[in-house]
Amino acid sequence: MSLTTAQDHPAAGQLPTTYRAAVVHGFTEPLSVEHVAPRRLEPGQVRVKLEACGLCHTDIHAAHGDWPVRPRPPFIPGHEGIGIVAELGPGVTEVSVGERVAMPWLGYACGTCDFCVSGRETLCESQQNMGYTIDGGFAEYAVAHARYVVPVPDGLNPIDAAPLTCAGVTAYKAVRVAGTRPSDLVAVFGIGGLGHLAVQYALIAGAGVVAVDLIDEKLQLARLLGAEHAVNAAHEDPVTAIQRLGGADQAIVLAVAPQAFEQAFRSLKRGGTLVCVGLPAENEMRLPIFETVLGAITVVGSIVGTRADLREVFELHRAGRTRVTSECVPLSEVNEAIAEVEAGRVQARVVLVP
Ligand code: NAD
Ligand code: ZN
Ligand code: ZN
Repeated sequence: MSLTTAQDHPAAGQLPTTYRAAVVHGFTEPLSVEHVAPRRLEPGQVRVKLEACGLCHTDIHAAHGDWPVRPRPPFIPGHEGIGIVAELGPGVTEVSVGERVAMPWLGYACGTCDFCVSGRETLCESQQNMGYTIDGGFAEYAVAHARYVVPVPDGLNPIDAAPLTCAGVTAYKAVRVAGTRPSDLVAVFGIGGLGHLAVQYALIAGAGVVAVDLIDEKLQLARLLGAEHAVNAAHEDPVTAIQRLGGADQAIVLAVAPQAFEQAFRSLKRGGTLVCVGLPAENEMRLPIFETVLGAITVVGSIVGTRADLREVFELHRAGRTRVTSECVPLSEVNEAIAEVEAGRVQARVVLVP
């Protein structure tokens, strides 16, 4: 087996003896931006020099230990990392040094279980997740499994590619799971990183969109991106507003509050579909059985998207069909950026630049 190192390739540059990363040491502490030592590459792994990494709300849940399955500190968050392959571990043939790749949430899957072989790799029970069970992209370098990085096509800049790597692919998949058809009305609850892209994929699917959020600036963005209707749920009951429009065929919930899931359910038309995507720390929603049965409502969860979905998301963007709204922040200001997201002061996505 041959080992190609960054030193062999002009694009990769010299590997430093340490590099900067934002590390979670405890769920109640801020991230620590510090120097860490590079890990040795295992067979099948690559080292990637980061250009950009989006800050997904999932990274905030990870840093706070919000979910029933917690990551184990110390760890480095980040699953919207984009960078250049700098070094190949033993046996890697899938990518070459100098190539630009994305490092999504699905950092590794077994490739042989029923889920993996039937195109549902994101359900693999042996999966590893970037920025959660393996160190992620809030760093100058990250180690990834070559089979699970996704090539970024030429003509896509890394600052746009980063949010597409989770927010994009997750929103795209959610619209597919919703089964949206032309002339449907789709309610999108939560116009953040995921939501501003969900609006666009619903429009591409031919639907009309009603956007729901608590913050006017986010609703303005949704309108700018083509949403026909916008409801500020802090000032107006979204259920009444959406039922006045005839009810939604599908409601996609990307908000970080159980209340939004319950409102989305009640916004549906008979025969409608509730797509659950957001993952609030408060892990319960209450849905009525009678109305679910008589309305023949479908309730479905949607988890990120596959490598194939991400290729499609990149292709749509390269073709000029989507717009990414983001603001770049230096990696050293990751804690300030998290506070801004939590306060609702970020229009859509923060992209951390090392
Ligand atoms: P974000 O913070 O960028 O966006 C959340 C949006 O929801 C904000 O605009 C906020 O104002 C809005 N909101 C909050 N409460 C609301 C309410 N009651 N009604 C309407 N809107 C409300 O977050 P994001 O990065 O877009 O992620 C959203 C959620 O999706 C997070 O919980 C994240 O962990 C989850 N997520 C899930 C998947 C998946 O595969 N299912 C993938 C990525 C992220
Ligand atoms: Zn598997
Ligand atoms: Zn994410």
